[in-house]
Amino acid sequence: MNAPPLDPEARREQMVREQLARRNLTDQRVLDAMGLVPRHLFVPEDMRHMAYWDGPLSIGQGQTISQPYIVALMTQMLRLQGSEKVLEVGCGSGYQAAVLSCLVEQVITIERHAALAARASELLCELGHSNVTVLVGDGTQGAPGEAPFDAIIVTAAAPSVPSPLKDQLAEGGRIVAPVGSLGNQVLETWERRGKEWHTERSTPVMFVPLIGEHGWGDDDWARRRW
Ligand code: SAH
Repeated sequence: MNAPPLDPEARREQMVREQLARRNLTDQRVLDAMGLVPRHLFVPEDMRHMAYWDGPLSIGQGQTISQPYIVALMTQMLRLQGSEKVLEVGCGSGYQAAVLSCLVEQVITIERHAALAARASELLCELGHSNVTVLVGDGTQGAPGEAPFDAIIVTAAAPSVPSPLKDQLAEGGRIVAPVGSLGNQVLETWERRGKEWHTERSTPVMFVPLIGEHGWGDDDWARRRW
């Protein structure tokens, strides 16, 4: 006889153990946040049975919610302590924003698709993530009215780190972003140290494109060649 299906909490615990803790994720606060946020509520209903699998999922409008491992890895790379104000570019389902919301003081997240932003905002509110603000617009311009940010995470593929985001980063702050071509990217970390930038390139990833003034044009995406 088959074992009964696990409830979401148990599947989440299994996800943290098998997909995150067993890999290179060591920040206990990040692991705890990943164990708390009900990922299945951030994916469309017909995908819920897949919510805790080790990969990305479609969330509508041609967009995706990232693999749990990548969400946790990028969050860990931000090295958050608890008192930060964080900007996310690419709100999508709101899942990454919910994880950040458990770890910092305030989260501003921007989404260019109004329908996705509305859905994310409603869910985040329902789940009590009152320290998250969802904005609609071109996140490649950052959120000048809310700057400076202690950390910035870009969750769509950028040709390079948009300069407004660098301008809006506080001293000692970090930006984590997937940078590269439309087909594949590498996670980059940019840390501001006075007038200098310390940069690192790490994990290869594949994100949907960052479309906007300091990102890709709509046409680049339509004409893409893998
Ligand atoms: N972080 C999301 C997944 C991101 S998918 C989550 O946890 O679900 C990438 C998202 O970036 C998509 O929703 C896409 O519409 C959005 N996006 C792309 N270009 C953007 C831009 N210039 N400004 C804001 N959002 C953008």
